[in-house]
Formats: sequence, structure tokens, C-alpha cells
Amino acid sequence: MHDPALLRSMHRARFHAEPAVFVAPGRVNLIGEHTDYAEGFVMPAAIDFATLAAISLRSDGKFVLYSENFGEERAFDAALPPAPSKHWTDYPLGVVSILAGEGHKIPGFSLTLWGDVPLGSGLSSSASVEVASALAMLSLLGASYPGPVLARLCQRVENEFVGANCGVMDQFISANGKKDHALLLDCRDLSFRLAPIPSHLALVIANTMVKHSIAGGDYPTRRRESEAACAVIASHRPGVPFLRDATLEDLDKWGYEMAPKSLMRARHVISENLRTVAAAEALLKGDLAELGRLMAEAHKSYSIDFEGSCTEADLMVELAQDIPGLIGARLTGGGFGGCTINLVEQAQASPFAAELGRRYADRTSIVPEIHICHASDGARQLE
Ligand code: ADP
Ligand code: MG
Repeated sequence: MHDPALLRSMHRARFHAEPAVFVAPGRVNLIGEHTDYAEGFVMPAAIDFATLAAISLRSDGKFVLYSENFGEERAFDAALPPAPSKHWTDYPLGVVSILAGEGHKIPGFSLTLWGDVPLGSGLSSSASVEVASALAMLSLLGASYPGPVLARLCQRVENEFVGANCGVMDQFISANGKKDHALLLDCRDLSFRLAPIPSHLALVIANTMVKHSIAGGDYPTRRRESEAACAVIASHRPGVPFLRDATLEDLDKWGYEMAPKSLMRARHVISENLRTVAAAEALLKGDLAELGRLMAEAHKSYSIDFEGSCTEADLMVELAQDIPGLIGARLTGGGFGGCTINLVEQAQASPFAAELGRRYADRTSIVPEIHICHASDGARQLE
């Protein structure tokens, strides 16, 4: 995580005001991919990459947003309703918009954002910006929300303002993560269970450095395909509004009525829900062999049935298999590139990361970024 003291002094130098500073982490999903919008289960952990937000009040009725990552400042009139412009400012402005819709009158402010979550790599830099910005803006009003409510509000920033049709996982774990724990989340009612990650394990995140999704089009396509399968099941069993409620037997019975791709997507989502709950049980019992097996199965399902992987991510997972220390590896996040998560024995994490990086570079001529991370706390104010 970047140095909050440095952020404070950057903000002071730019805006001549003493800020309050907030942090919200990125996340890695251990298992449960494309299940959140089907009201299913996911098991992410917050990581030690985060976005910091420094905020102070202004007297000129403006929202002035600066991102150290982009090296860019933009000013908006606080009296006008915010509008999206396909720019990084959409994320903090979307928070203003959603909070305004909740009846909050946000006063003019200066906001400095500075993060070390890799952008667009499937580690949820966007959710960390939303959650950190929301905490920062609410602090100006002396207001706060319980973590799960904050997560829903920030999900709405993406859905209703930015225009990304994502589920609630990213914002939930950024707001509610716990150090040294994974979090099994039921995306239907937002009930959750924390599962301790043993201290002898590390989360090794390997960035393939590729992203094949064309203008974000694949994610909504997959979502539509899986929802079409659900509609077929619901025409026979009205009690299945989401794939969360469907079973593999439903696919045996009515799969022939579905487009072949829809059937495959649904098989991934339904089996992934089962695997995610089983993985949480395995982690709680300390059965790491079972957890690793489930991660491997999840990757296969994501790659073959969901067609959400790509050559580079499949290769990164394959290359990890016989490196000492590995417990389980799979592609994490929305898919089509981005990062793999490798659950690895802490004592072997450094040589594991070095060897994986070497192998991947040899095969692809791409030098990957590999990070040894640990589960961290969710969003909070920093003194
Ligand atoms: P992911 O959430 O997987 O990292 P997204 O495409 O959902 O990928 O979000 C990335 C976008 O979030 C960036 O392109 C940028 O607009 C915004 N963002 C992330 N971090 C920052 C930051 N530190 N400052 C400003 N904008 C940021
Ligand atoms: Mg995102």
C-alpha cells in the first residue's frame, strides 16, 4: 500500500488544506467466478494493494478530483448533476451521484486518489476507488453506512453510473474484508462467513499482462448467455429466478432446449456455486488438498464451459502445477486475461514466484508481474 503520509503531503501541497485519509483494498477471488450476479456464492479476500483517498472541504462549490495515477486534475460544478464521460472521474462522480440519490447533499471538496491496485487486471481497482471515495465523501457529512450497505451503494455506482453490469462481490470484499481471512459471501442476502487463511499460506497473484476482452463486451455476453439458460429452466420451474436456484439435474432435463453456449455457461455457474461452498468448507476444515483440487476444477470449468479464460491464463495456470509449494491455481476475476491466483506455501512463495515468472516469460516473451500478497482488512479511515 502507498504511504498515507506522502498522500497527505501531496494533497496539502496541491489543495492547501489538511485532508482526512481513507483506504479501500483491491481483492482477489479465490473461487466463485460469474456467480455473484446469479445470486450465488463467491469467496474473495481483500489484498494488500489498495486505493487511498484524501479529502478536504472547499468553499468554492466545486468537486475537484485529482488522481496521482493519471497525473490529472478535473473540476466539476457541485451545483450541477454529475454525468458520466467514460473517464476515471466517472468512479468518484458516480459515488456523488448515488449518494445524492440517497438524499445526501455533498458539499464541494478536493479529492486526491492514489492507488497501487493494478488497473484493469481483475483485482478490482474500480471497486477500491468507489469504496474509498464513498467513505471519504460520507465523512464530510459525518455519515456512515454498515459495510454491506456501502457495498450495494458502490455496486450501483458501476451499474447505474459507470455502466458496468457487475455483481456485488468486488465492492463487498473491499468494504468488508478481514486480515488473514477469505470471505464466503452469499450474494443473495449478503450474509457471509469468514474463513481463516492459515498463516503458512501466501496469495501469489500472477498478472498475465494481457486482456482480450473487446471493449468489455465479453462479460455482458456471458451474463446474457447464462441468464438465457436460467429463463429456460424457469419456464418449467418458476422457482428459479436465478441460476443460484438451479441444479445440474435441471440441465439434464431441459438443457436440450438451450442454445449450446447457454447450456455450457449455466453448467459452469451451477457447478461453480457448489465448488465455492465446498471450498469454504475445505478451508474451514484445513483440508488444503481438497481446496486445491476445487480451484483446479474451477479453472477448468471457467476455461472450457464458460470460455472465460485465454491462452495466456491457461498457460499461467498450467505452468504453476509442478512448482513446489503450490496448493491451487486458477484464473481470477472477470476473465479473458488478467491475473491468476496461486495459493502457495509461504516458505516457498518467493522461489515459486520467480520460477513461474521465468517459465511464463520463456513461453510467451511477456514478463509477468507476480505479487506475493496476504489477505488484508477492508476499507477504513487512516489516522
Ligand atoms: P479493475 O476494477 O479490474 O481494475 P476496471 O476496468 O473495472 O478494472 O477499473 C479500472 C478503472 O478504474 C481505471 O481505468 C480507472 O478509470 C479507474 N481507477 C482505478 N484506480 C484508479 C486511480 N488510482 N485513480 C483514478 N482512477 C482509477
Ligand atoms: Mg472493476
